[in-house]
Amino acid sequence: MRAVIIGAGIAGLAAALRLSQIGWDSLIIERAPQRRSGGYAVTFGGIGYDAAERMGILPDLVKRSFVTEELVYHRPDGRRRFSLTRETIVATTGPRSMTILRGDIETVLYERVHDRAEIRFGTTITAVDQDAHAVRVTLSDGTVEQADLLIGADGLHSATRALLFGPERDFLLDMEHKVAVYMLDKRPAAIAPGTTGTLSSGGRTAAVISVGDGRNVAFFGYRTAHTAPGEDAATQLRRVYGDLGWVIPEALDGLGRADSVYFDTISQVVAPTWSRGRVVLLGDAAWCVTLFAGYGSALAVGGADRLGTELERHQGDVGAALAAWESALRPEVDKKQKLGRRVKGVYAPANPLLLWLTQLPLRLAALPPVRRYMTRRFIKG
Ligand SMILES: Cc1cc2nc3c(=O)[nH]c(=O)nc-3n(C[C@H](O)[C@H](O)[C@H](O)COP(=O)(O)OP(=O)(O)OC[C@H]3O[C@@H](n4cnc5c(N)ncnc54)[C@H](O)[C@@H]3O)c2cc1C
Repeated sequence: MRAVIIGAGIAGLAAALRLSQIGWDSLIIERAPQRRSGGYAVTFGGIGYDAAERMGILPDLVKRSFVTEELVYHRPDGRRRFSLTRETIVATTGPRSMTILRGDIETVLYERVHDRAEIRFGTTITAVDQDAHAVRVTLSDGTVEQADLLIGADGLHSATRALLFGPERDFLLDMEHKVAVYMLDKRPAAIAPGTTGTLSSGGRTAAVISVGDGRNVAFFGYRTAHTAPGEDAATQLRRVYGDLGWVIPEALDGLGRADSVYFDTISQVVAPTWSRGRVVLLGDAAWCVTLFAGYGSALAVGGADRLGTELERHQGDVGAALAAWESALRPEVDKKQKLGRRVKGVYAPANPLLLWLTQLPLRLAALPPVRRYMTRRFIKG
């Protein structure tokens, strides 16, 4: 059996690894000329953690994960509001969860996959046709690849989805925020190694994350009401955050020296079905839950794992496997999409009272008795 997978992100690489474990061959098509690295910090837990354990990649992920020593919440002028210690952070995330850079999840998967699957960089999908027996995928390098299954793991702005399911506007739910994330070449002096500093003010959040191994991430998330059309990341961030002090000016300067920036509007993907015949969408292409849910990488790995399980169980009946996979996974995705929509309202509060109220649970979590209670709750499951 053979799959063509569009996209070498977390979902595509995880699918290739899982398919190799059930004896399938895969060809991965990636638009970027080479592998991406770094990215941003993600919380990786839930069904992703369980799947990583089953797929045998958990020890490698744990090795690359990091624990934040202190998470400090600041006022707009830089003064400390309150902070969470390492113990509180661990207690709030639970034992089967980790913080890791998105690019490091991809690296772990890539290292397992690169000699088990062909990866073609600098290439994209241009057309698809299928019948009861096979799917034929036309690629931008002029080749036509035949396979038993085409997996569209090409992210939020999926070309596979556009070709097979319809235009992007029919699937994207605008969450009315924008995000910009990039790696900093230098840690701002006010951010201690291994810690994260964050602030939220007037519908804007910003954070600087020191991974602790010399790598640092700048993160900006803000309401679209602040934006103007056609602005590039540098212009927009300076306009939206330019009045703030603390490490913000240093972090903004770092953008000019960054290799790349992730800069996009935040949208969920809501698709009534994830497959058409022998074509299936996976990861953000199918169900992007957004950073508000903090669960997209977990769903990408968990979804890939379960897809492999159903394809193996249904022994070549691709249609039956895809139907079983989707009905098993949908409740988890629906739950996380609902969570994402709830968090949207409180993520970057526009007024100070709402900010105080949204930070209250975190302040409470920092109290030792509450922390001890949370730790016990996780241990008991
Ligand atoms: C700032 C931020 C914070 C986040 N925090 C968390 C978190 O805490 N926890 C969590 O679990 N998730 C988090 N997420 C979500 C998570 O990162 C994504 O859900 C996950 O990376 C999706 O992986 P993917 O492989 O589906 O898509 P992508 O990562 O978008 O990968 C798609 C791949 O396909 C390639 N591609 C795109 N178009 C084409 C094409 N036409 N042809 C060929 N290749 C193509 C791209 O280059 C890319 O390599 C966060 C996301 C953001 C932006």
